[in-house]
Amino acid sequence: MDSARVTVDCESCAFTETFTSLRRARTAIEDHRRTHGHDADWSIDRLSAGVERAGADAGVCGRPECTTSDSPLVRDRLDDAE
Ligand SMILES: [Zn+2]
Repeated sequence: MDSARVTVDCESCAFTETFTSLRRARTAIEDHRRTHGHDADWSIDRLSAGVERAGADAGVCGRPECTTSDSPLVRDRLDDAE
């Protein structure tokens, strides 16, 4: 089992999200910087160490597919379209 997880944390706000791939975490960090101007940070956790906290923080399934529609970028785009 390849169970490493990447947790993205922002010190400037309450943004916290856990990813199963570095690429997705990186995309989230770039999106967050573009949207909020914050520099989020990431840390790589093993499942055994991170699962308890990740579950408490997220309280959801944690799949990226579930959060896509919640992206602030979508709302920005709607605002721009007026
Ligand atoms: Zn932030």
